[in-house]
Amino acid sequence: MDRFWTASAWAHRLAGDLLDLLFPPRPAEESLRELLPPFCFRCSAPGFLLCPSCQEILPAFLWARAPYRYFGAVKQGILELKYGKQIDRVPWLADLLEIGFRTYAASFRWDALVPVPLHPVRERSRGFNQAAEIARELGKRQGIPVKKVLLRVRPTPPQAALPRSERRSNLAHAFRPQRNFDLAGKNLLLIDDVITTGATVRECAARLCELGAALICVLAVARS
Ligand SMILES: [Zn+2]
Repeated sequence: MDRFWTASAWAHRLAGDLLDLLFPPRPAEESLRELLPPFCFRCSAPGFLLCPSCQEILPAFLWARAPYRYFGAVKQGILELKYGKQIDRVPWLADLLEIGFRTYAASFRWDALVPVPLHPVRERSRGFNQAAEIARELGKRQGIPVKKVLLRVRPTPPQAALPRSERRSNLAHAFRPQRNFDLAGKNLLLIDDVITTGATVRECAARLCELGAALICVLAVARS
């Protein structure tokens, strides 16, 4: 009888191991998909060298990067924060943003982190601006001040729904600088949760450039 149970337990374990081999357990972290080359060296769109949008008009930012693709656990976390109002997702998303910071931004000297603004009406209904929340967490960890120097003056429909030709006019004059911080000669890192088409951060960077910022780059948690 003992031998039967031993053999049975052994067979059970072997079956379990075989199943694990065929269908590996997938912890949440495994569904993180890193942003890997090839991508546009300015805006990180998939492809080589310089994407069509950047060829058409070179962005005012030097580079826009994210450590991860907008996929799996990252996408889930961002959606939970934005639409589920799960503010407790902020530290984890800031962890991911910080990975991007160490990879792409740590060798620069930043004067400020600038969160991409939400329209005030949307911010009031959501209760917070997710970009500002993750920027504040990163700023605290890296000792960089967060400056809300842009104001979103026009609510805009989601960019992804529009053809490329309409995205720029959709966003023209959507942002206005707040005259609460002298940007002249400053190195600024724009922060957003996700870069979808890149049109929003292009528009924000253009406004910061007009105000005399010396260097503008963009860091997000995820890139579509
Ligand atoms: Zn590009």
